[in-house]
Amino acid sequence: MKRLLPVVLVCLLFLASPAFASRHIDFTIHKMGSDRPGNTLLVIGGIQGDEPGGFNAAALLATQYKIKKGSVWVVPNLNFISIIKRSRGVHGDLNRKFAKIGRSDPEFDTISKVKRIILDEQVDLVLNLHDGSGFYRPTYMDRIRNPHRWGQSIIIDEEKIESVRFGELGEIAKQITAVVNRHLFSEEHAYHVKNTWTKLGDMEMAKTLTYYAVRNLKPAFGVEVSKNFPTHKRAYYHLRVLEAYMDLLGIEYERSFSLSASGVKGAIYDNVKLAFYDNRIFLDVTNARKRLSYIPLRRSAEIVYRPSNPLIALVESGEGYRVFHGNRRITRIYPQYFEYDFSTENVTMQIDGEERKAAFGDMLGVQESFMIVPKNGYRVNVIGFKKRGISDESGVMIGQEDIMKRFSVDKDGNIFRVEVYKDDKFSGMVLVNFSYENENLIASEPSSVSLFGLSAEEKASLAKDSPTSSGKGSNLGR
Ligand SMILES: [Zn+2]
Repeated sequence: MKRLLPVVLVCLLFLASPAFASRHIDFTIHKMGSDRPGNTLLVIGGIQGDEPGGFNAAALLATQYKIKKGSVWVVPNLNFISIIKRSRGVHGDLNRKFAKIGRSDPEFDTISKVKRIILDEQVDLVLNLHDGSGFYRPTYMDRIRNPHRWGQSIIIDEEKIESVRFGELGEIAKQITAVVNRHLFSEEHAYHVKNTWTKLGDMEMAKTLTYYAVRNLKPAFGVEVSKNFPTHKRAYYHLRVLEAYMDLLGIEYERSFSLSASGVKGAIYDNVKLAFYDNRIFLDVTNARKRLSYIPLRRSAEIVYRPSNPLIALVESGEGYRVFHGNRRITRIYPQYFEYDFSTENVTMQIDGEERKAAFGDMLGVQESFMIVPKNGYRVNVIGFKKRGISDESGVMIGQEDIMKRFSVDKDGNIFRVEVYKDDKFSGMVLVNFSYENENLIASEPSSVSLFGLSAEEKASLAKDSPTSSGKGSNLGR
């Protein structure tokens, strides 16, 4: 297939605000709206760190949807530390701290902030996304299908909140299950409504986020997908539920991928990218090698980066940084520190015979060969270029066979770094991609993002690198 060339990748990093390595790994809120007023839906993902269906669905909602009427607020990563650690809760169960929490609890601030968001007068309805064990059934069928399981249910704490818009919880939950049950991979996956009758004395459920909301007259639902499915199928079902609620609230939206098992899988895993220092460095780590070495980070400056997805975190670790995407560790970055040069923002390149300007942070598709046009005072280093003894690689026509495969950013040996220096200072980087197909890139509207601080305990917890238990096989719900 003939590719459109040259292809440039730009502006894919949706986050408006930069993040800082390790220091501010806390939840983000993405307020998506439109100029057509309407209801506001609040969606919370990642209250427990080992439930990737929920937080991936929330992250897709925050990055791959455009809201055309009404508003959607998304917290995709409420318990971000626990997501990185693949733990239900590094500091205990965050969803049992809404009735009462001590000031000394490391999650006191998180709870206070999310409570304020829930009670914001703009919020009309709240959804808390979970991955639960087995399949909830109102009557006992077998070990994994019975009233004590949680998967494939919409959870309500009571039938009705009197005189509140959308307060008919039982009725709404029933409508949602009816809609979602038209889109099942198998009849076995059908959703049911589960009422925990929390007010009547369920001490555990009384400590949860949804019951906090309901007590404060905010309609709220727990949404449980079954842990029996792989992550992308869990996210698929959560998105079906989210879209049913948006339809119910009259919220109009567009989605940038097809709502199918493979569409959701691609949307989750094919967009893992990060940029540093205003795009002077851009790394596509979707399929990255285990280690990326000699990345020219800025000497004695805070590491500032922008991720393509709110589940991406950069965590300090010994000599380098680990890059996480949700529960998955993607790669390690080993830096080499440089002073930075800010005298230029781009390079001129010849790609397959055509001349064009490339801004730092671009990834350029190359079919045959490329050359950086020489510029006085600057030198170019193509990482892995085979010919030794050249101090400046500008002016040299370079094909894929001229670069050592093991220096690629990706595992397949197609993406390479082209770095520009002025004397000893680093000016910026572009990526060349020898396999670049014209992907369907999302130029999503930047969401408004707030970042919150990280406590000393959380930093200490991140410094450890131990796998933590995930409560697998138990009946732990919500
Ligand atoms: Zn849960």
